[in-house]
Amino acid sequence: MSDIENISTPEAVPAAAPAAATEAAEQVRFADFGLSPDILRALTAQGYVHPTPIQAQAIPVVLQGRDVMGAAQTGTGKTAGFSLPIIQLLLATANSSMSPARHPVRALILTPTRELAVQVAENVAAYCKFTPLRSCVVFGGMDMKGQTVALKAGVEIVIATPGRLLDHIEQKNISLGQVQMLVMDEADRMLDMGFLPDLQRIINLLPKQRQNLMFSATFSGEIKKLANSFLKDPQLIEVARSNATAERVTQVVYKVSEEHKRDLVAHILRQRELKQVIVFSNTKIGASRLSRSLEQEGMKATAIHGDKTQQERMAALESFKKGEIDVLVATDVAARGLDISDLPCVINYDLPYNAEDYVHRIGRTGRAGASGDAISIYSDKDERLLVDIEKLIKQTIKRGELDGFAPSSARGDERHGERRHGSSRRPEGETRAAPERSNGGGSSAGGSYAGARPERSRSSSGPMPRREKVDPWFLKPYEPAQSSAPAPAPLPVSSKPKQKLAALLGGLRKL
Ligand code: AMP
Repeated sequence: MSDIENISTPEAVPAAAPAAATEAAEQVRFADFGLSPDILRALTAQGYVHPTPIQAQAIPVVLQGRDVMGAAQTGTGKTAGFSLPIIQLLLATANSSMSPARHPVRALILTPTRELAVQVAENVAAYCKFTPLRSCVVFGGMDMKGQTVALKAGVEIVIATPGRLLDHIEQKNISLGQVQMLVMDEADRMLDMGFLPDLQRIINLLPKQRQNLMFSATFSGEIKKLANSFLKDPQLIEVARSNATAERVTQVVYKVSEEHKRDLVAHILRQRELKQVIVFSNTKIGASRLSRSLEQEGMKATAIHGDKTQQERMAALESFKKGEIDVLVATDVAARGLDISDLPCVINYDLPYNAEDYVHRIGRTGRAGASGDAISIYSDKDERLLVDIEKLIKQTIKRGELDGFAPSSARGDERHGERRHGSSRRPEGETRAAPERSNGGGSSAGGSYAGARPERSRSSSGPMPRREKVDPWFLKPYEPAQSSAPAPAPLPVSSKPKQKLAALLGGLRKL
């Protein structure tokens, strides 16, 4: 089946069951696809022998020149699923000429965030390593000069965020007149981030005759519309049902009052002795404050969000991967596309406003072959969000009992130095903090929040509040980080060795 119109519900996608797909993938080796020896050499260097299920399905279809609509999340190996056959097809025109004219842009890969762009570019560079093909990455939030030099030198594969690509197009640094292949990665996220007009402008600049590949973790009506507008007779490929949550993920929700959410996260982390956990926050300020608070509890935590510089985010990610940091507190925008996929546990400090983000978030854990925990915390005001999530995933999430949890206010703990009013307290700045949004090109959005002032009201009937020692950091209004740190050199993209995750990418045999 290949008609996008027929995707009326996620279940209607004609997918091989993940287990069957995994088995099939296990039998296959990369060498069976007829890929060039130069590509196989690069795969051997990466330590990859067997394709993941999405790779096993996508590679032959892309090699046939067909359009593809792929339902796959980050962490499934989808990047190699589209980039290996693209490289194979481009080898037909690959050459070692020094002339830029001999290296026109032939494949364009669009991603919603700079992190994902960098990751995809690293993969592509690694797979192209032994070929004469050139690749480069362009994304917002940094100087255009280095990117311009690389583009003007001639490059066959460009990985880009939409906003920055349009900047380069306007400045005539890039011509898209010879693009033969377009990849739209994490299309659902691109729409969420408001990139639709940019995408349409870019698509209008491409030759009509081309191969199109689109990947999305979820299938909203908007995604189907977008797919219909530019894919031709696409082959549908899916490895895990789009809006269904991973079967092996144990989900639980805990209800707690808003002011005790931070304490509860700390309690869960301590009680379960969790390491390598992502905690999701809906807001930049919430992420910053939670990570600060956990650090004060003696945990190795750090926050990543849109106001952190690119260097800070990359450094945090590296430390997390190396195990120097146990808890990464992240907003959806910052975490999206990050190559973090085999975690034992994901915690939702806030329930996401968008139910589909819940699926993305918990997809970080419980990959086939591994089990995982998804723990969510919510308060009264989030009941509606929980209803939306349960409707989307078509299941009721278990309500957990809070045994042995004594919030710090109940214990008389003053470590955060927040003002306490009678028996209740509220961490300032979390009441109305704005959710993180990304602006065009994936560059960070600055912002100040209406809710960033300390809560002053108190019950008139309660006892006079005792003034406590206040950590001044928690009283500061929200200040976006200055992007003063020097940006990392963008080009050429390096190919660094990757963690071997095949066993967790659909239950492949350990290599
Ligand atoms: P992706 O979903 O493309 O972001 O890939 C997730 C991770 O899996 C990355 O670290 C890849 O380098 C790794 N990976 C991709 N394909 C394979 C494979 N066939 N075997 C082992 N690891 C892989």
